Order: sequence, then structure tokens, then C-alpha cells
Amino acid sequence: MVGRLYSEAQEMKCIQCQGSMERNTAPFHIDRNGYHLVFDRIAAWVCNQCGEVYFEEAEVDSIQSIIQTVDAQVEKLAVVA
Ligand SMILES: [Zn+2]
Repeated sequence: MVGRLYSEAQEMKCIQCQGSMERNTAPFHIDRNGYHLVFDRIAAWVCNQCGEVYFEEAEVDSIQSIIQTVDAQVEKLAVVA
């Protein structure tokens, strides 16, 4: 199991510069219609050469679910009574 994880980590190469990707955290922000969301730290693969960031599916899913929730609430907030 450890060997398998190690080989997977070895295969993780940066698309931009072929540098090696390391497990780290990265900030992430998204500009939406009506609001802007900023995360300070999200688990990610970060290139140790050029700083390119990749988020895994689990993190992307979480972010998308947060955005869906906020989208729905922001729509209500923007309604002028
Ligand atoms: Zn890179």
C-alpha cells in the first residue's frame, strides 16, 4: 500500500513545467455574479517549481457544493422587496 502510494506520488508531474507536485494547501478565489468567495487554504497538489495548483475531485466537489448553496442564498438577498 505504501509502495503504491509512493509510485502514484512519483507520477504526479506538473503539466506546465514537468516539475514534481507536492501535497500542500493553496488559496482559491472565485468571482461569481453578485459575490466573491475567497478560501485561504484548500488541500491541493502544488508544483514545487512553478507553483501550479491542482485540486482533487473531493475538494472541487466541496467547493462546487458551497457555491451552489451560496448562489441560492445570494439570489434571495438580491431581491428588493
Ligand atoms: Zn510546474
